[in-house]
Amino acid sequence: MSKNLNIAVIGAGIIGLSTALWLQRSGHQVHLIDPNPPGAGTSFGNAGVFADFARLPLSKLKTMCQIPGMLLDEESPLSIQGRYVPTMLPYGLGYVKACLPENYLRGCHALTELLKVAPEADNVLLKASGAIELVRSNGSLALLGTKEGFQKTKDGPMQERIEHDVSVEFLTPDQVHELEPGLADFHAGGVYYPNSRHTVNPGGICQKYAEHFQQNGGIVLQEDVVHIDPDGESIKIETSARHLTADRLVMAAGVASRYLLEPLGIKIPLVSERGYHLELESGDQGLSRPVSWLDKSIFLTPMLNGLRVAGTAEFAYADSPPDNKRIQHLLKFAKNMLGGQPDIKSRWVGSRPSTPDSLPVIGPSEKYPNIMLAFGHGHVGLTLSSITGRLISQHLNGEKTSVDLSLFSSSRF
Ligand SMILES: Cc1cc2nc3c(=O)[nH]c(=O)nc-3n(C[C@H](O)[C@H](O)[C@H](O)COP(=O)(O)OP(=O)(O)OC[C@H]3O[C@@H](n4cnc5c(N)ncnc54)[C@H](O)[C@@H]3O)c2cc1C
Repeated sequence: MSKNLNIAVIGAGIIGLSTALWLQRSGHQVHLIDPNPPGAGTSFGNAGVFADFARLPLSKLKTMCQIPGMLLDEESPLSIQGRYVPTMLPYGLGYVKACLPENYLRGCHALTELLKVAPEADNVLLKASGAIELVRSNGSLALLGTKEGFQKTKDGPMQERIEHDVSVEFLTPDQVHELEPGLADFHAGGVYYPNSRHTVNPGGICQKYAEHFQQNGGIVLQEDVVHIDPDGESIKIETSARHLTADRLVMAAGVASRYLLEPLGIKIPLVSERGYHLELESGDQGLSRPVSWLDKSIFLTPMLNGLRVAGTAEFAYADSPPDNKRIQHLLKFAKNMLGGQPDIKSRWVGSRPSTPDSLPVIGPSEKYPNIMLAFGHGHVGLTLSSITGRLISQHLNGEKTSVDLSLFSSSRF
């Protein structure tokens, strides 16, 4: 068993933070490097759902056939920035391959395996860091706008979820009203997931993890990693402020991981799938749990700072200005869900690090086994954060991993 390694974790989002904590718990000396404060990237702005139900990859033949129609529909959650198309080509090819039925089923299996062990891993970090006070166990709702849509969802994706061990309860509109009286009458009923949890402050979890890490001797360097040289006995890392060496490196820089790895000859078809959120004055309509409107792919989540409406899948360069049309659509749908004219308190856009098959990349790089890959969590990075860190630390400790890492190897691309 390798013990007391000197490990550099690149990226202090929820994935890097969780990984740093698990490595620290195993006795390693860890440097966490990020030019921004911990949790200031995508991990700040998500919908806050620990999505126990997220066991079906988005790469599915039926979904692929719907893409052209969605791209033509201004109000659909999906859009692609024209100048981003060339960057997306390897992703696009990978997506088509991932949609083949056998690959889709492999993806369902892989996500199910991770999600079976994720909550236990979450609890360890949430309790140790005190972040458990930011988590609520009220389940979540997924609602449909029409009876036909509800029936199709029941017979299709919900049946698949049940087959992959997700607890699902079907609700009539009246039963939904009993659970969430503040919702408007926009739906024909839907699904209750009793085992999903949510956080009322995703950025707050990151801060608690960072504090806990530092209190236990972890070092946070607020610096940009500009160059990595893995060719010697130890890995040389150049940041905007210094040169460091490490026995192992964990790449957890979200969407930027692609660009940090490319100079090393490691090519991953990772893309920036942007999502938006608006924070609304919740008034009397405060919800007790996250509510998604499945037809529109948006979530309303009650947070400490008000109601957060989050959604959209805009494939675009991470640093592009926000698209106001997307914001207006989110607001319109939120108004439909809540009734009335909620005021916007704040708005945000961030990039999901997305892979063609909706599975994260977790484990050693093929080319440089001293470099661990921990990115590509797409829509479920909060949900899979702690288990990712635990798997990386188990691997580096020479222990049997809780889930077979070959399912998440970069060699699949
Ligand atoms: C609208 C929206 C809603 C979502 N809802 C949910 C949800 O409900 N549940 C869920 O599980 N997931 C959700 N997600 C997905 C989740 O937020 C992401 O998968 C997750 O935050 C990714 O975490 P990360 O640590 O990989 O990336 P990030 O949080 O982006 O962290 C990456 C870090 O790397 C740093 N970095 C970049 N370049 C460098 C460099 N050169 N040197 C050092 N550091 C660098 C960045 O500064 C950043 O801090 C949602 C995402 C969006 C956009």
